[in-house]
Amino acid sequence: MEIITIPCLQDNFAYLLICPKTGDAAVVDPSEAIPVKKEIKHRNVKLTTILNTHHHWDHVGGNKELKADYPELKIYGHASDRGRIPEQTEFLEDGDDIRFGGQSGSFLHNPGHTSGAITYVFGKSAFTGDTLFAAGCGRLFEGTPAQMHDSLNQRIGQLPDQTELYFGHEYTETNLRFALSVESGNTEISNKLADVKALRASGAFSTPTTIVEEKQTNPFMRCTSSEIQASVKSSDPGNDLSEKEVFRTLRELKDVF
Ligand code: ZN
Ligand code: FE
Repeated sequence: MEIITIPCLQDNFAYLLICPKTGDAAVVDPSEAIPVKKEIKHRNVKLTTILNTHHHWDHVGGNKELKADYPELKIYGHASDRGRIPEQTEFLEDGDDIRFGGQSGSFLHNPGHTSGAITYVFGKSAFTGDTLFAAGCGRLFEGTPAQMHDSLNQRIGQLPDQTELYFGHEYTETNLRFALSVESGNTEISNKLADVKALRASGAFSTPTTIVEEKQTNPFMRCTSSEIQASVKSSDPGNDLSEKEVFRTLRELKDVF
C-alpha cells in the first residue's frame, strides 16, 4: 500500500492510501477537499473511502465536498460518532474491519482526545489522528487522563515496535521540547529534536514516527521513567507516582507549556 502525506490547513496531515492492485484510494482525515482532490488527480487514482479518526472539524472538513464529487464514497468513523462526522456511512464497532480496493485493515478505539477517537491499522502502518502525536498526545477534550493513558499505552503501545505511526498534526518540535523539559537527560529526545529541526528547515515533515521511537521519546508513554517521575513530583508533590497519576500531571504540564 502506498501512503502519501497531504499537508492541510495550518499544520494538519491528511494521508492518501493507494491500493497498488486496484488503483483504489482511501483518504485519512481530509481536513479540506482541495489538496486531496489535487493529489487524487495527480496520482490518477479512484477515491472510494474516507477514514475519519474523530469528529473534529479539522479532520472531517473535506467530507461533504468529497462526498458530493464521489457519491459512492464510504465514510468510516466510530459508531459513537454518529451524527458528528458529516456524511458518515460506516459505523465501526469493536471487531469490525475496514476494506478498500484489495486492502483490509482494523481499528483501535482510543477514547481520550474524543470519546469516539480511533486509530486505523493497515499492516505495519497506523493512523493515530490526534490521539498520538510524535512525542506527544492530544488534549483531553472528552476523556480522562486514565482513558488516554490506556489508549496510548495499552492499545497503540501494543502494536509491534516497527509499526509506522502517521499522526494528525505537525507538533513534533514543540512536543520534543516539552519532553526534554521533563526528562532532560534523555539523549534520544535531544537527538530526535536535532533531527526534526533539520528536517523541518529543509521543508520536510516529521511524520511518520514508529512505536519504538515513541517508547524512547514520548513522555506520555514513559510514565515509569524515574527522571519523569522526579519532574512530576517537583511540580505536584502530592502525586502518588502511579502511571495514571504521572500521566495526569504530565498532561496538565503540557497544557500550559
Ligand atoms: Zn482533534
Ligand atoms: Fe486535530
